[in-house]
Amino acid sequence: MEDSARVKRYHRTGRILSVAGFLVDLAILLTLLLTGWTITLRTLAVHCTTRPWVAVLIYLGLFGIITHVTGLPLNFLQGFWLEHRYGLSNLTLAGWVKDELKGVALGGALAALGVEFLYAAIRRWPEHWWILCAVVFIGFFILLANLAPILIFPIFFKFKPLENPSLTERLLELSRRAGTRIKGVFEWKLSEKSKKANAALVGLGNTRRIVLSDTLLAQFQDEEVEAVLAHEFGHHVHRHMFQGIAIQGGTTFLGFYLIHRTLGWLSPHFGFQGAADFANLPLLALVTVGLSLLLLPAVNAHSRAMERQADAYALRAISSRDAFISSMEKLAELNLAERQPHPWIVLIFHSHPSIEKRIAFARQLPA
Ligand SMILES: [Zn+2]
Repeated sequence: MEDSARVKRYHRTGRILSVAGFLVDLAILLTLLLTGWTITLRTLAVHCTTRPWVAVLIYLGLFGIITHVTGLPLNFLQGFWLEHRYGLSNLTLAGWVKDELKGVALGGALAALGVEFLYAAIRRWPEHWWILCAVVFIGFFILLANLAPILIFPIFFKFKPLENPSLTERLLELSRRAGTRIKGVFEWKLSEKSKKANAALVGLGNTRRIVLSDTLLAQFQDEEVEAVLAHEFGHHVHRHMFQGIAIQGGTTFLGFYLIHRTLGWLSPHFGFQGAADFANLPLLALVTVGLSLLLLPAVNAHSRAMERQADAYALRAISSRDAFISSMEKLAELNLAERQPHPWIVLIFHSHPSIEKRIAFARQLPA
């Protein structure tokens, strides 16, 4: 089925806004670095205090205000304007502002923790800090994956145990067949903010749970919900989370090592007083962004391969492929998905195969 002009426009506008947002971030980092303003901000922070960690915090606060304020217009266009223009959002402007403030508080606290640890490690172990930081950051990502369903998601959304015993039992049975332990099935009040539908297997260990958006529950038959979750269990059966942690871990090591080398090499050119001089934060961010951008096509190709594996598992795990196909159709409709994105766009931007390819894959299996 051909994508409508409306669907194409929605995605094209979204991509333009994302790329523009990325370019604005890049421009700010380069400006701070090349004009020497980052040195001015650092000097200001150092004048206020004799404690290195307080100076880092002051600098980070100023850096955060500058990058956040300049990024705000595009954040608004992407997160609020675009979704409303295409009738996909139930979020009020006040709701958007509230979520922004919560995001800033949470993101700021996590950034402060990470950046303080990073510069403390550089001050203490100037040669080997990058090994320690990689290990600690990976451990922290895993801890966050465990804590997110109980600490972070509830800051933004309401959840309650699913009040549908037969669907709950059906999904628990599916989880038993996949050999995974689930601590409950929850209804996710997404409709307060969005018209889109979503379902996921979230958390790690004792927080592992199924979350189903109320928007999905309102539109999907039980066997369609089962098909969506069977795909999620496919990720579990194929141990994709461990693959993800391994790749994220390898990238984190590589990233910190590259930062270590870049700082040694470029610090004198920008007037930094050694690697522990936190005025180098924009340079550090640029190395991270550059590496993510380089790896993006490979990371997305790997992700699409994992998605195909999860689909293959789902189609074996459920009794009817029709439920899988109709769940795809409904998701595409509710979420205004692009069924036939351009192959180049898929290659660079998409972590999932197109809906059209996923449906074609299901159809070619023997009934
Ligand atoms: Zn998936």
